[in-house]
Amino acid sequence: MKSGLAETKQLSEQQRLIVESVEELCSKFDDRYWRELDSKGSYPEEFLKSIERLGLAALPVPEEYGGPSLGLREAYLVLENINLNGGNSQPLHGQYYLLFNLTKFASPTLKEKYLTRLARGEMRLQSFALTEPDAGSDTTRISTSAKKKGGEYEINGHKIFISRVMQSDLMLIAARTTPYEEVNKKTEGISLFLVDLRDAISKGQIEAKQIRTIFNSQTYELYIRSLMIPEENMVGEEGRGFRYLLDVLNPERILISAECIGDAKWFVNKCVNYANSRVVFQRPIGVNQGVQFPIASVYSELVAAEALSWQAAGYYDEYSRKGRIDEKLMGAYANISKYLAAECSSKAANVAMDIFGGYSMTRDTDVARKMIENRLYRVAPISQNLVLGYLAHSVLGLPKSY
Ligand SMILES: Cc1cc2nc3c(=O)[nH]c(=O)nc-3n(C[C@H](O)[C@H](O)[C@H](O)COP(=O)(O)OP(=O)(O)OC[C@H]3O[C@@H](n4cnc5c(N)ncnc54)[C@H](O)[C@@H]3O)c2cc1C
Repeated sequence: MKSGLAETKQLSEQQRLIVESVEELCSKFDDRYWRELDSKGSYPEEFLKSIERLGLAALPVPEEYGGPSLGLREAYLVLENINLNGGNSQPLHGQYYLLFNLTKFASPTLKEKYLTRLARGEMRLQSFALTEPDAGSDTTRISTSAKKKGGEYEINGHKIFISRVMQSDLMLIAARTTPYEEVNKKTEGISLFLVDLRDAISKGQIEAKQIRTIFNSQTYELYIRSLMIPEENMVGEEGRGFRYLLDVLNPERILISAECIGDAKWFVNKCVNYANSRVVFQRPIGVNQGVQFPIASVYSELVAAEALSWQAAGYYDEYSRKGRIDEKLMGAYANISKYLAAECSSKAANVAMDIFGGYSMTRDTDVARKMIENRLYRVAPISQNLVLGYLAHSVLGLPKSY
């Protein structure tokens, strides 16, 4: 099943090599590694260091800054294959979509300052701070403020569910340079800044409190008080941050699809192997149509979801090369891709929970661990409801519900 589906993607030689190196790496970090991290709530530090040593964490960095200048499809393959091999690629997805963003919108000074070090794996850019307690899915309602003071911006606010703050060196933060009440259009007045996290935390300008989650994640609530950012750390132009944000959120959705596709394949593989080997009533349980049909059904959805999300990644790469974008098409691709992949992987997780019977509840099968890791993607980075709301309004022309 693994190779059968990968072949439908018609990978280039370079893409095949990426898949092979991820597979080889994952064979050294097996289920036991991820299970142990999960039980301790630890970050996959050793695994990430190996990924960085292979240069795989800096795929989008342009050649002039020492990176390989690769696209979303190559990043997609890394994430898909980590999850397909039983791991959790969450720590890596942030770095990918943030690097795409920095490469496109940061000033030459900012790129010079950080991209070379990021390409060498000397720094990590894994954190992105958008969500706020009083805004939730209504992201234009964020109230974290950024006020110009001489050559700096002073940022004050409160963020929630911000991942990898203590594990990253840099963080991209969204703040309002003009309050919501003073803009003509709600998407105006938001700006993006690159934050040196180590400096800000050591000065007490950012206080990070870890949130206890039901799976192994490093997610924080942030209290931001008089955080001073040099003006050259603004990404793009002041007040136009929402436009750049779309270029974070769309690739993020496609990368999440890649993780969901990887998870769905892991669940289907797991189900097929178990259904063929578990004998009850003196025959493999996979003989029963009540067991095999749910696997076949989710497999067919997986093939369709994979085709769409691979196409979506290809569209992002094509427009990035040409520098021209059909925003509506990109939005539709990214959202449908995330929706279908998250539906299919959560269905595959449920099928696996049923097929493993009582053993699904044990830690050693990893089914429950993967199910909960994957469950996140029905909610974050955008809930399935909000995707449907977007499609209904922006693609189909129905009245806006949000
Ligand atoms: C583990 C974890 C890691 C995260 N990491 C990050 C991160 O690194 N950076 C970051 O910025 N954010 C992060 N998030 C935040 C995540 O993106 C948000 O949780 C998500 O966008 C949903 O926001 P909310 O939780 O406030 O839900 P709410 O907006 O409160 O929504 C709650 C429910 O109501 C529904 N709902 C709300 N409005 C509507 C509507 N108009 N129509 C239909 N249904 C509606 C939603 O679909 C949802 O089911 C993370 C979250 C988690 C749990």
